[in-house]
Amino acid sequence: MLIKKEDLKKDFKDNLITLYAEDVSEASLEHKYFALSEVIKKYMFENWMKTNRNYSKNEVRQVYYFSIEFLLGRILESNLINLGIRDLCKEALSEMGINLDELCVIEKDAGLGNGGLGRLAACFLDSMASLSIPGHGNGIRYRYGFFDQKIMDGYQIEIPDNWLKDGYVWEIRRNEKAVRVRFNGNVRMVNSNGRLRAIHENYETVLAVPYDIPIVGYDGSTVNTLRLWSAEPMEREFDFSSFSSGDYTKAVEYKYSVEAISQVLYPDDSSIQNKSLRLKQEYFFASAGIQSILRTYKKKGKPIEELYRYVAIHINDTHPSLVIPELMRILVDEENLTWEKAWDITTKVVSYTNHTIMSEALEKWPVSLMMSLLPRIYTIIEEINRRFYLEVKDKFNNNWDKINKVSIIQNGNIMMANLCVVGSRFVNGVSELHTEILKKQVLSDLYEIYPRKFKSVTNGITHRRWLLKINPELVELINDAIGSSWIKKPNSLIELKKYIKDKDFCHEIADVKLKNKIKLAKYIKEKNNIELNPKSIFDIQAKRFHAYKRQLLNIMHIMYLYNKLKENPNTDIIPRTFIFSGKAAPGYKLAKEIIKLINCVADKVNNDNSVNDVLKVVFLENYNVSLAEMIIPCAEVSEQISTASKEASGTSNMKFMMNGAITIGTLDGANVEIKEAVGDDNIVIFGLKAYEVLNYYKNGGYSAMEIYNNDMRIHQILDQLVNGFWCVKESGFIDIHEHLLKYNDEFFVLKDFDEYVKAQEKISRLYQDKIKWNEMSINNIANSGRFSSDNSIKKYAENIWNV
Ligand SMILES: *Cc1c(COP(=O)(O)O)cnc(C)c1O
Repeated sequence: MLIKKEDLKKDFKDNLITLYAEDVSEASLEHKYFALSEVIKKYMFENWMKTNRNYSKNEVRQVYYFSIEFLLGRILESNLINLGIRDLCKEALSEMGINLDELCVIEKDAGLGNGGLGRLAACFLDSMASLSIPGHGNGIRYRYGFFDQKIMDGYQIEIPDNWLKDGYVWEIRRNEKAVRVRFNGNVRMVNSNGRLRAIHENYETVLAVPYDIPIVGYDGSTVNTLRLWSAEPMEREFDFSSFSSGDYTKAVEYKYSVEAISQVLYPDDSSIQNKSLRLKQEYFFASAGIQSILRTYKKKGKPIEELYRYVAIHINDTHPSLVIPELMRILVDEENLTWEKAWDITTKVVSYTNHTIMSEALEKWPVSLMMSLLPRIYTIIEEINRRFYLEVKDKFNNNWDKINKVSIIQNGNIMMANLCVVGSRFVNGVSELHTEILKKQVLSDLYEIYPRKFKSVTNGITHRRWLLKINPELVELINDAIGSSWIKKPNSLIELKKYIKDKDFCHEIADVKLKNKIKLAKYIKEKNNIELNPKSIFDIQAKRFHAYKRQLLNIMHIMYLYNKLKENPNTDIIPRTFIFSGKAAPGYKLAKEIIKLINCVADKVNNDNSVNDVLKVVFLENYNVSLAEMIIPCAEVSEQISTASKEASGTSNMKFMMNGAITIGTLDGANVEIKEAVGDDNIVIFGLKAYEVLNYYKNGGYSAMEIYNNDMRIHQILDQLVNGFWCVKESGFIDIHEHLLKYNDEFFVLKDFDEYVKAQEKISRLYQDKIKWNEMSINNIANSGRFSSDNSIKKYAENIWNV
């Protein structure tokens, strides 16, 4: 689409008038942001309509990506980039005296996700549209997104994220496409025409109203749809049934209990909340999504038996797993297909990505809850389980131990991962290591039954956001060197390897990094009132707080450095700035205590003049997509130090390397593949291997106490946790202390400490050789193309969705 600068200016001014009755000189930044967004929408919507018309006319298979989270962040600037008009728009605005960057930051982050899983879904949407794959998102329109984090006196405070307060410009409410979702009630089986038929009675109906967000691909021609569902009361029931019978309060209660379903995003990452409201959310968007897919499909006039040829449904982790019994319900109860036929279709349509091996994150729902909340869905799951049992009992020769492990219903619980594997065409892990662990350990018995179902697709990130958008000066350097073909074909970044020995290029790379660091230092000075040395190593760990991600290992290393400097002030140390950012789940005591510890250490270190010219510690509050975009281009060291086997893939590891940071990490998740891509010399690896960790869990043999008794560095650090050394805190950091000693250090922090210290010393040594360091950095950028989500999506398209 050709967009002219003068038209853009005119459209913009017209919008200011029609929206606010203001001209450019009067309008606030907010108003300018909304007026500009409306202009961009007009440009996008034409192609959105075209794309949709195309999809309904053509016989191509549609992919529906179901995810309980989509962590979009801001999208104005991404839309401009993908439409190819960022520069044009910048110019047009600047001619009117407006700075585009100032408008972009007005947009509130759409924080409809916790972290990696939700951000992955957002990157995948970008890649599907950019590769012109008919792929749509299906999720929940949370009234409150992921909470905002404030740090007060070193502690995390949670504040509701009222992101819809001023309205969200990018969505369209589609009243006419609302569907009904049923909860509670009871199920009766009746015999009709020789067939058993389920009758669901006395249910409560919830209206699911879709809000559609356009997803523009790079070059703007394909515009797919992210459909987010909002829960609303059925008007009739609210206004009449209870109200007219005189029970006003009951009517209002009903309204609130329905709206609660899409009110709030659960803020737990890598652990489950067995709350009935969460189960309601899961069924709500699964059912609404399936109903909407079937309605669209039926408009084509094709027989329902051929659904699998035109539709692929992907479920991002188990949260949307009720699509399996829901699709069965509609095919059997409403479309009158036989069970066998319905099962055949369902297992050809659905595919499933597993995201974790940690038992606290593997979803299971009590039978009693499922039975009362979703009685028909429960009977379907029961029947799936019964038939599956008949199939496997011979295969496993009545080996009860094995049969129980694969069973969908176990000891009064429904095991959602098992349901997903049984009900899906394909199952995939999110890195090579993770997939191996699934096959060999976590899902080994299911793997034995369905070896051909299992695939591996390593996660990815969209390089259009995580490089093109956020690091313009680096992009300019890259484009000058190798052209811009990498934007469409990220693997072409590999051509940068030619420049590794080019001294000028190396210097320029270093200059860009320094400039980015200076910008961040300025922000930190304003935000945290901490003065940074931009020449120091910027060492960043930014991700959710979780014990397995081991921010604790990072801060303990800093405590060790401090102790060492105090003991021997002449210690030679390369200046370092350690930056942390991330949120803890509100109920996760240990993680919150680690945040407090980091802030205490930061306080002491930053204010101690004998060390603070070589050591600085910063905690940046409220980690979200926009903050990630700001800090990642400034990193020189990327901390990816999870306990091996625990991080299924990780994606911030990829974002950091793409912006030239060197990874210090364990052989976990996609770090293994990053090491393979960049080579041993361009990454610093330490610590236990995944199989060593898994062996310890299985066979024991690890003693944290022994390490505490033998390593004086650790001894000192642990004692300081509880003797008031770092700051006065009632009862000290007792939870951390007990986690490490009394409960034997579940994540092997003490075990990996020594190797981590050595790895950090190696980083410092490497950094002193500027030329070598820049070579490493270029190597990381050059090899990052492999981790573009375009590559992941191509694999899904070819091997899993067949589109
Ligand atoms: C990429 C990203 C994550 C995931 O980080 P990991 O280190 O892979 O866990 C989490 N939150 C935000 C805001 C991100 O952009």
